[in-house]
Amino acid sequence: MNAQKIPVFTPNSTTDDTQGKTNLLGMSKRELAAFFEQLGEKAFRATQVMKWIYQFGVTDFYQMTNLSKKLQEKLANAACVVPPVVKFKQFSEDGTRKWVFEVAGGSLVETVLIPAEDGKQFGRKTLCISSQVGCALDCSFCSTGKQGFERDLSASEIIGQLWVANQSYMEDVPVNERQNHVTNVVMMGMGEPLLNYEPVVASMSLMLDDNAFGLSKRRVTLSTSGIVPKMYDLAKDIDVALAISLHAPNDKLRDELVPINKKYPLAELIQAAKHYVYDENPRHKKHVTIEYVMLAGVNDTDTHAHELVALLQDLPSKINLIPFNPFPHAPYARSSNNRIHAFAAILNQAGFVCTIRQTRGDDIDAACGQLVGQVADRTRRSAKWQESVAKRQNAQL
Ligand code: SF4
Repeated sequence: MNAQKIPVFTPNSTTDDTQGKTNLLGMSKRELAAFFEQLGEKAFRATQVMKWIYQFGVTDFYQMTNLSKKLQEKLANAACVVPPVVKFKQFSEDGTRKWVFEVAGGSLVETVLIPAEDGKQFGRKTLCISSQVGCALDCSFCSTGKQGFERDLSASEIIGQLWVANQSYMEDVPVNERQNHVTNVVMMGMGEPLLNYEPVVASMSLMLDDNAFGLSKRRVTLSTSGIVPKMYDLAKDIDVALAISLHAPNDKLRDELVPINKKYPLAELIQAAKHYVYDENPRHKKHVTIEYVMLAGVNDTDTHAHELVALLQDLPSKINLIPFNPFPHAPYARSSNNRIHAFAAILNQAGFVCTIRQTRGDDIDAACGQLVGQVADRTRRSAKWQESVAKRQNAQL
């Protein structure tokens, strides 16, 4: 990744709990270096502090043992490391972990970690991260869209979700033995990440930065419903995997399912995706992932499959079919297993790598820029979580 190309972004404070101090969580190395210079310190301190924060999960400056006492004190007076507040967490026996965070202003967002089924302690763990509170795009099959849009998340609120997820494996581990557990990140939670561009890119740059989380660029995926101009920006600014929430093989149907298609129709979207794959930057992935939610009788016929083959013929792509999980008042039903397999067979015969997403119990099924597969209505669930948090708090009084 070319650090020079990453947009400068000043993170907002994550919570109301920074007490007037500067929250270092979410700052890029450049921003941290500038902060240290303002304090009259050498810029290389930024690298040291980043490692403490992101690799060892340390928030107490007095535990950062390679800093002088004087600097520790200076930092304790001027700065803090404050992640979003965990309002609720649920760790299931199959290894899935879910968090509900309260972000500044009291809104709730959720984050889900899904481990590989091999159960290995340091096996693959994929974290699905939210980028906005709610979403303005109102895709007709998406429960997040039904909530409407509340606000963008700051870089610290975005990266804080990953920080907390790793922290959940570090709590009882001595500082010098700690290591990060999350291996993959997908920007597929609540919101359209490309409509919150700078904080999202700043956060992904921290995910890739060797002094922060050091994830491989192939293991950080941004999923978009197709904000075409920002896809060109993304190709210039950062090198991560790209997924597209397609869900329909023609404009007429996509206008209905993914209304942003009226603004950026398929021809423009596919062109932007090709640019992302083929642009002059050879570091980019050699394919994009196409997300396609399977809606019975709506987008799942043989004709749709053939249309999809034609649409994607010049775009190196892997196709991920997602069985729809209905939510209350959803106007759609899930395609039958037979239908999904017949659809997949047409894509396979045409030479596409096509997978069918497995649903795992109560897992979240991320489908695009959202956690679309979740059964429960998100607004209701947030209210339910708030209720259960309130009950717990009352019980403790
Ligand atoms: S599917 Fe993605 S882009 Fe569409 S409303 Fe849901 S979160 Fe927003």
